[in-house]
Amino acid sequence: MNADATADAGDETPFRVMPAVTVDNEHFWRGGAEGELRILRCARCAYWIHPPAPICPECLGRDVSPEAVSGEATVLSYTVNHQLWYPNLDPPYAVAIVQLPEQADLRLTTNIVNCEPSEVDFDMTVKVTFLEYPDSRGNVWLPMFEPAGEKDEGPGS
Ligand SMILES: [Zn+2]
Repeated sequence: MNADATADAGDETPFRVMPAVTVDNEHFWRGGAEGELRILRCARCAYWIHPPAPICPECLGRDVSPEAVSGEATVLSYTVNHQLWYPNLDPPYAVAIVQLPEQADLRLTTNIVNCEPSEVDFDMTVKVTFLEYPDSRGNVWLPMFEPAGEKDEGPGS
């Protein structure tokens, strides 16, 4: 049991810019509570819709609701940031666009975590992991991606 997990548990949690959580995107930011990456999907044509929108851009259907995706992805594009943009958001870190296998144009902008930024590469296979942050109206689970499969630690130093 965590006896003292109260207010100051945030020390080792890096700063992140928090999203504006609305009724339209809440499934995305809070799905991590159940370990699920949730994306809106059209009931009529099965199109995945991201960023969230109330109307399907493919068929203009309005029957859209969140569904869990596999959480797998590949790195399509990335950049390693070396500049300090915010206090406690310590560089370097990798910002990436990842491609989800569910649909050809289903992509997320995210951070690649749990590896050195220099280890990130194109076509790298990654999987979702969530960072939980407190928010004014309940917690937010930011979807981040980490290397999938066994970790390559490289040659010993
Ligand atoms: Zn549709």
